[in-house]
Amino acid sequence: MHDPLSEGGTARPITMHGTPVLHTRCAEVTAFDDELVTLVRDMYASMYAANGVGLAANQVGVGLRVFIVDCPDADEERVVAHVVNPELELPEVRTLDDDAEGCLSVPGPSSDVARPDHALVRGVDVYGEPVVIEGTGLLARCLQHETDHLNGMVYVDRISNKERKRVLAEAFPST
Ligand SMILES: [Zn+2]
Repeated sequence: MHDPLSEGGTARPITMHGTPVLHTRCAEVTAFDDELVTLVRDMYASMYAANGVGLAANQVGVGLRVFIVDCPDADEERVVAHVVNPELELPEVRTLDDDAEGCLSVPGPSSDVARPDHALVRGVDVYGEPVVIEGTGLLARCLQHETDHLNGMVYVDRISNKERKRVLAEAFPST
């Protein structure tokens, strides 16, 4: 899956853990305009500049329900896509995959997070057309991680207090 919007953007600074927009539920997108197209293009440029595999709009300081992925699934097939106003669906019978997870907004460390190994996201694209992204492997993890961001949650909110302290101290040594 390729996304034509994955080229031509300008990288914006990545918002760091602790910034209010990262800890607040993002708003539904209602304006499908040029500004939204530019946001998605810039999100790709920002993600690639930071060597990420996914990025949510609030990670560039915009509190809207938009995320992008450029991530392989369990079959090593690379999925490059954006989704607006996504709804996450997880299987009723869940197999948990406990694996290392990191975040561009908590740069450096990673920590194990158990998540369902299959996920599906339904939403629309920047033109309002339906989008479905089905994920296994790393992509399943990524879809859940990015949906969490839009709900104001960072992956460190899903790990123990002790582990969170370790991760945040490693990412932000001066604080
Ligand atoms: Zn993240």
